[in-house]
Amino acid sequence: MDKTIDGRTAVSALPGGGVAMHVLPELPYPADALEPHVDARTMHLHHDKHHAGYVDKLNKVLEDYPALQGKSATWLLLHADELPAEIRTTVIRNAGGHVNHSLFWRAMAPAGSGAPEGVLKDAIKKDFGSFELFKKHFDDAGAAVFGSGWVWLVRAARTDGPLEVMTTSGHETPLTQGCYPLLVNDVWEHAYYLKYENRRPDYLHGWWPVVDWQEAERRFKGSDQTAQQRWEAEGGHLLRAL
Ligand code: MN
Repeated sequence: MDKTIDGRTAVSALPGGGVAMHVLPELPYPADALEPHVDARTMHLHHDKHHAGYVDKLNKVLEDYPALQGKSATWLLLHADELPAEIRTTVIRNAGGHVNHSLFWRAMAPAGSGAPEGVLKDAIKKDFGSFELFKKHFDDAGAAVFGSGWVWLVRAARTDGPLEVMTTSGHETPLTQGCYPLLVNDVWEHAYYLKYENRRPDYLHGWWPVVDWQEAERRFKGSDQTAQQRWEAEGGHLLRAL
């Protein structure tokens, strides 16, 4: 069944009449690959239960709204004012959880890459003074998040926008605040409590060895476009036909 939304054919218009579902992306590495910095049991629970739960709830809440089923999670976040009021909060929370965790898994890599290089290295030096000062700023901001949230390295969407450290509460995203995320760490307790218990600053400090700076630099190089254009293009990886 073909379907057109905003002049575009939705991804739910598939051979066989299937509908588009949000799907849990596979981890880009084995769950134990980030040991000892992020432990395997935390990774299993975090990805297989927490992230999966957001995807399931997002699909569930959209069951009776076929016009929204072809939209990426990013699109839903960027067009929250177009969502029916009765499902808006649930969609935002779960689409946010889905998008943020999808970014988070890709922000990390086994053995990481040590430190930024190239143009991102230069930008961090320009905007924070040094890599060490940036890391301290990021750690301090993450430690100061009250309750559950995220800490980000972002770039303002405008051309030549500066790099900034910002935090969001719950599963809110920098995208809706005009900022493009380059790097993110999850400071919900479920991200660290099994290994680090209440010691969030230790988790933040211990996380740097698994940061994938190549991914952050890839995102930096694409960040001159507006966040919405960029994300509508990139959001496609969050949808797969079932
Ligand atoms: Mn999480």
